[in-house]
Amino acid sequence: MRFAIAGGGVAGLAAGLAVARAGHSAVVVERDDVTAQDGPEGAFDVVRKGIPHFQQPHTFLPRGRKVLRELAPDVIDTLLDAGAEEQDLAARLSGPRQPGDEDLVYLWVRRPMVEWALRRAANAEPGVRLVSGRQITCLVPGASGFHLDNGEEICADVVVDALGRYRCPPGWPRAQAEPSECGSIYYCRYFELAPRAEHLAGPWLLNPRGDLGYMGFNTFRGDNRTFAVIFIVPTADRELRVLKDNDAWMAAARACTPLDVMTSPDHARPITDVMPMGGLANIDRTEGSGIPGLVPVGDALCHTNPMFAYGLSFSLVHAQALGRASAAHTAPGDLTEAYFADVGPEARERYTFALEFDAARNAAWSGTPVDLSRRDGCYPLFAFAAALATAPHDDHVLRRTVGRVGLLDRVSVFDTDDDLHGRIERIWPQLTRTPAGPPRDELLRVISP
Ligand SMILES: Cc1cc2nc3c(=O)[nH]c(=O)nc-3n(C[C@H](O)[C@H](O)[C@H](O)COP(=O)(O)OP(=O)(O)OC[C@H]3O[C@@H](n4cnc5c(N)ncnc54)[C@H](O)[C@@H]3O)c2cc1C
Repeated sequence: MRFAIAGGGVAGLAAGLAVARAGHSAVVVERDDVTAQDGPEGAFDVVRKGIPHFQQPHTFLPRGRKVLRELAPDVIDTLLDAGAEEQDLAARLSGPRQPGDEDLVYLWVRRPMVEWALRRAANAEPGVRLVSGRQITCLVPGASGFHLDNGEEICADVVVDALGRYRCPPGWPRAQAEPSECGSIYYCRYFELAPRAEHLAGPWLLNPRGDLGYMGFNTFRGDNRTFAVIFIVPTADRELRVLKDNDAWMAAARACTPLDVMTSPDHARPITDVMPMGGLANIDRTEGSGIPGLVPVGDALCHTNPMFAYGLSFSLVHAQALGRASAAHTAPGDLTEAYFADVGPEARERYTFALEFDAARNAAWSGTPVDLSRRDGCYPLFAFAAALATAPHDDHVLRRTVGRVGLLDRVSVFDTDDDLHGRIERIWPQLTRTPAGPPRDELLRVISP
């Protein structure tokens, strides 16, 4: 079969690789002028107007790593050679390893590098043709291809919509969907560790994160001794938008624990300015457009609050499912149906969770009391924040929590485990919880010019 893939981000490139490795041919068309570079050095200089969040920190979840190992182990090798690092959370277990623990691994790498490695593999794949610097203008009726801005028509049996979350060409068919605002803005900055410094070790499961009661922060490792810090601020809190300023941002970091240590000159130096990112929404298009032979992957299918970091992993999951469907079906309509049946339920349950979590956290940050210490309190926060905080203290909680936040398990595995919930409820009161930063008025005083 011939696949015409619209969009050459992570989902489009992975879809191209997946169908080519299942024995088909694919043309991947990307609007930005990106070419496959030889080395990773150029990955960060690529101008990606089509992806405003290109330089934002990205966590590569255990599920994404697992799928990438199955789909394209060569890409994992390329990333590790280029300085990506694996973090094996099974090393935190106090008891012996069990089957499945080999997947409890995060892959720390900055997003431009992920795209670079995928593009390099797609470029070398005999069944894939990459076209860059060409805009797709419209779909050919019946999804038998699409037109480009130079008048060329790419003919295909199946069209893959990998156009991402932003605007697609006029008249491009997509399932109707109502966006739900996440209600937060990100203010992120990347750092490089000082020569003799190491990533901060501590009681946290992954990396330091904190909730100040009115905003929060998270930290992400990257490749090559880099890491990022993000302040997550409610969209409604206009005064805190001063965090877009480098000096204000650094003053806020100095006021929070352990960001004060992480961002001190002895520990690390900033390698970017503050990168603000708003306009974040959840969208579910898993109902499909109803057009046989038109298959959305990645953000075009569904996207959620980036806090959960599902996007890259789901892009790979969708690519893998497309490869599977293309191996099992020769009629585009059957392929489309099988694909939606495969990926829809899991995307929908994560979308539902994201909406519930956003509502709970936005309520908490606007002053509504929430109880995350009990399953019958605020369940979305219990199943995320309380689970992450208690996971380092109990092997069963660790496995189930990484299974849930790392996208390895369906949510029912966590949600129906009464023993697990009891363990979290028993551990939570024993944890020392000191505020991660000052009250809002005090923070504002510190960061205001
Ligand atoms: C702030 C932020 C933080 C995030 N953090 C994480 C994280 O920690 N972990 C994680 O896994 N995910 C994260 N995500 C989500 C992740 O970035 C997305 O899920 C991922 O980018 C989806 O890839 P995609 O290929 O579907 O879309 P995109 O990356 O948006 O790619 C779409 C491509 O289509 C091209 N295109 C668009 N229109 C046309 C056209 N007309 N013609 C030709 N080409 C076109 C664009 O130029 C672009 O290259 C984050 C997202 C945001 C916004």
